[in-house]
Amino acid sequence: MTESAASSVSPAPSGAGLRFASLGSGSKGNATLVSDGETHVLVDCGFGLRETEKRLARFGLHARQLSGVLVTHEHGDHIAGVGALARRHGLPVYLSAGTWLSKRLGKVPRHHLLTPHARFAIAGLEIDPITVPHDAREPIQFRFRAHGRQLGVLTDLGHPTEHVAEAFKSCDALILECNHDPRMLAEGPYPPSLKRRVGGNWGHLANAQAQVLLQRLGLDRLQRIVCSHLSEQNNRPELAWEALAPLLDGDESRLLIAAQDHGFDWQEVA
Ligand SMILES: [Zn+2]
Ligand SMILES: [Zn+2]
Repeated sequence: MTESAASSVSPAPSGAGLRFASLGSGSKGNATLVSDGETHVLVDCGFGLRETEKRLARFGLHARQLSGVLVTHEHGDHIAGVGALARRHGLPVYLSAGTWLSKRLGKVPRHHLLTPHARFAIAGLEIDPITVPHDAREPIQFRFRAHGRQLGVLTDLGHPTEHVAEAFKSCDALILECNHDPRMLAEGPYPPSLKRRVGGNWGHLANAQAQVLLQRLGLDRLQRIVCSHLSEQNNRPELAWEALAPLLDGDESRLLIAAQDHGFDWQEVA
């Protein structure tokens, strides 16, 4: 950790309230913290053990304080550090049967198989796993509810389905994939097969698709919108910003961009 990063340590959340933060977001690794002030969980862990511990410390947390790791799917940018983190700190892992059957975790102390659409709870955090179209075994994303507020975590989405739009329209805050700009993807260095995969219906959401989905969800209720999972090769933060900012009627303080290296700081859903 650099000195400047060390000096910007955020305190761990305390007091009742739904909060979230990111340890990093993008094709090189993803990990999101969600907390109700007492219970803290990690959604995905695409970073190695040491790196994850270091990044958690920036948010005032030790891995021992986590109540579990929720996994969206078995792609390396979401799962690379999950097994080691769970083993080292005795954490339970929550995931779909398909993701578990991919056998990417190794042994973990405990695992809980989730049924998509069946709500479950970890202490005071209520969680709905939402089925999404993406090229993994049984990918899910999550909607969290605590203290009467809702947060949606929605990345790795090939295309916005009716079901997804319905599931996330009640959110007060949303982490939304803005993966690529189609022109940058088309003109970029990826081989043709990978371009087709990323841009296809079971790949990733383009900026303009995120814009259309957001319009469909409605913006009145959304206090925070975080553009996330940006491709370093096929997108630029300003392009994601240009796609979503016009929807905000001049109130751009609601919009954030998640960074690969440092994610984003704690956000509170009031
Ligand atoms: Zn993926
Ligand atoms: Zn991903």
